[in-house]
Amino acid sequence: MAPPSPDALLELALLCDEIFDDEETLKKFECSKKRCGRESGTSISSIEASLHSKVLSELCTLDSATDTATDISFKKIHEHMRFGGSDNTGLEHLYSNHWMKPKKLNLVLDLDHTLINSSYIEDLTCDEIHLVDQASTTKDAGSLHRLDFNDCSMLLKLRPFVRQFLEEANTMFDLYVYTMGTRDYAAEVVKILDPENKYFTSKVISREDCTQSGVKALDIVPGSKACTIILDDTLSVWTQEDRENIIEIWKYNFFASSSPDSYSSCKTLTQKRTDEREADGTLASILSVLKDAYWEFLLMDDEQSGLQPDFRRILKEMRNEILRGCLLAFTGVPPRRGWISLWQVAEQLGAKCSTLVDSSATHVLAVHCSPSVAEWALENGKFLVHVNWLESARFLWRRPREEEYLLPTRS
Ligand SMILES: [Mg+2]
Repeated sequence: MAPPSPDALLELALLCDEIFDDEETLKKFECSKKRCGRESGTSISSIEASLHSKVLSELCTLDSATDTATDISFKKIHEHMRFGGSDNTGLEHLYSNHWMKPKKLNLVLDLDHTLINSSYIEDLTCDEIHLVDQASTTKDAGSLHRLDFNDCSMLLKLRPFVRQFLEEANTMFDLYVYTMGTRDYAAEVVKILDPENKYFTSKVISREDCTQSGVKALDIVPGSKACTIILDDTLSVWTQEDRENIIEIWKYNFFASSSPDSYSSCKTLTQKRTDEREADGTLASILSVLKDAYWEFLLMDDEQSGLQPDFRRILKEMRNEILRGCLLAFTGVPPRRGWISLWQVAEQLGAKCSTLVDSSATHVLAVHCSPSVAEWALENGKFLVHVNWLESARFLWRRPREEEYLLPTRS
């Protein structure tokens, strides 16, 4: 069968757009079109034609299997095309169940410091102990829960936005829990996160299931690595070969017993008497990244592109766009901040790095800097930002507003 003409594709595209009656789906579709058009230089109409050619091929397949299908005819677009049924439900089914989710795409979720934070009640501080009275012992919608199992009592805090995150992620991916916690602990936490057993069913992997002691690996997650994304706060717990699949998330340290790592050597959230924001906090930002990656995957999943979709490549490319065009001059970063590590992070985010503070720099990164450098940055219109600006870019997957991280330029 000859491929449909561009005019035919365009006409089908117009027809199909009428079927996008779900606002959220339409929004995602439009975002992806814009993103792909911007990055690849491909015109929007050709992407649209490409996307709809997928539908076209599916419809043609249906046509050959259902000779009597005549209620909705696409013959005017392509002579061999017909689509059966008394309404559009068949076509909607294609969009919602096949085209929208063409392969088994996996999202592997860590628990501790990623979706939740927990503490033994005996480890709570004087300032935290009152939270026990606020905690629920049932599987209600609250964010604080008490867990009593295996002779231990714990307080569990859900990360803000986690319920909406799971609900939306579940529309794109098959969700797995993968924790280094025990099987009993994982089961208790999953009862809180997924009280109706909608997301994880039996897809919970715990310490006892690991094939290598103390190491997480994708070898026990069904499906292709190319179709899998991991969300975890700790890269080092994964095998080296699986780290390309990871979106590293900012540690959720709510309770004081959580030991901050070198990157967040600040007070925990209870000590600061605050919490992450729901609407634009860490999980909301990561959900946005996942949506972008998901749609990139679908757009790549096109025979015409010649590329096999692979989340590892998609994440690398997305990461490499975050600080593209920035030239960072590092100065006054103490060793404990992991100077070399920050440099590597910046390059992964697409920035160029230098230790020379000169006119080519767009940003001067420091924890503290000398008055002369501060004066130079001010006179030359350079951003003088704290290294936390880079850490925010790393974890939020966007270029943060410099104004929120400026170091003083005058003493
Ligand atoms: Mg963790």
